[in-house]
Amino acid sequence: MSFVSLLGQQEAVKILKDEIRKDRISHAYLFSGQNGIGKFKLAFEFSKAVFCKELELDSCGSCINCRKMAHQNHPDFKRIAILEDKNAISIDQIRELKKEIAYKPYESDHKIYIIENAEEMTKEAANSLLKTLEDPPFFATIILLAEDTGKMLPTIISRCQQIKLKNVEKEKIKSLLLDKGLEAEKAEILSLTADGSPGRALKAAERESYFENRKIIYDFLSDIDSKNTIDIFKITDKLLELLKSDFPCFDLLSDWYRDIMMIKQDCLGAVKNKDYLEHLKHNKALMSLDSIIEKLDSIDRTERYIKENVRANLSLEVLFFKLRQPDQE
Ligand SMILES: [Zn+2]
Repeated sequence: MSFVSLLGQQEAVKILKDEIRKDRISHAYLFSGQNGIGKFKLAFEFSKAVFCKELELDSCGSCINCRKMAHQNHPDFKRIAILEDKNAISIDQIRELKKEIAYKPYESDHKIYIIENAEEMTKEAANSLLKTLEDPPFFATIILLAEDTGKMLPTIISRCQQIKLKNVEKEKIKSLLLDKGLEAEKAEILSLTADGSPGRALKAAERESYFENRKIIYDFLSDIDSKNTIDIFKITDKLLELLKSDFPCFDLLSDWYRDIMMIKQDCLGAVKNKDYLEHLKHNKALMSLDSIIEKLDSIDRTERYIKENVRANLSLEVLFFKLRQPDQE
C-alpha cells in the first residue's frame, strides 16, 4: 500500500509530496474531513513516505521502516486516540506525548505523532498541547485529525498547516465496492448513502447483515402509519440489539426522512434510497415539510440522548411514537 491506495485525495497527496520533496515538512498539520473519508490513512501513508528508506516520495512496502509501519511497531510513530472508557483525549495522554516527543527518533530522522478526534480534547489537554505546538523539537511532526474543526481552539488551528480532505465522488466509491466483490445494486445504494465517505460505505459493506437490517428498518418506516404499539416495542428491541454492534441506525433513520424532504422539494436526483422510492413518495404525501424537519430533529436528539446514556429503550420508543404521529395539517 502507498499513497496510491488513497481514494480521491490527490490534491492533499500532492501538497504532502511537495513538502517531502522540498524537505519542508511542517511541525503540525490538521487533516480535516468527515469520518471515513481517509484522514488516518492519509496520515499513515504520509508517515510511511517520510520514513521509507527506498523511495523518496512514497513508501516501498519492503524496507525495514515500511515493515515496522505495517506491523504497527515503528518506534518513531505514535497514534493517540480517545481511550475506550473515555469520551475525550485526556491531559495524561498529552503529557505522555510531551515526555516522549522530546527524545530523538530511533529509526529515522523524524518522529510523527497522530492525534485522532483532535476536536474531542479536554480543555487542559488542548492547552497543554498548544505549548508543544508552539515549540516542538525540530524532528517532530504532530498530525491532528478532526471531523469538526469548529470545536477546536482557534490558537491550535492557527499553529497547524490545514489540509482539508474532499468528499469522494460517488462513482469512485462505487468502483471501490465493486472491486471488493459487492453486487452492483448494493454497491449503488452504499455509494449513494456514503455521502462521499468511502470508509462509511466499506464499513456497511463489511457488516454481515447490513442489507437485511436496513430492510427491517425501512420496511417498518415504509408502513409506519399502520404500526401498533406492539410493533413499536418490537422495532425498538431490534434497534437496541443493532446499536450494540454500532449499527448506523440513526444514519438510516435520518436518510429516510431526508429523502422524503428531497422528494417534497422536487429534488428526486438527490434521493439516496432509490430502491424505496415508491414508499418514500407515499410517505411524502402524508407529511408536511415542518413535520419532516421535526422528525429529523427528534432523530438527532434521540441519538444524542443515547450517547449520553439516557435510557435507550425509552428514548427509542418515544422516537418511534413521534415518527408515527400523523400530520396535524
Ligand atoms: Zn520503504
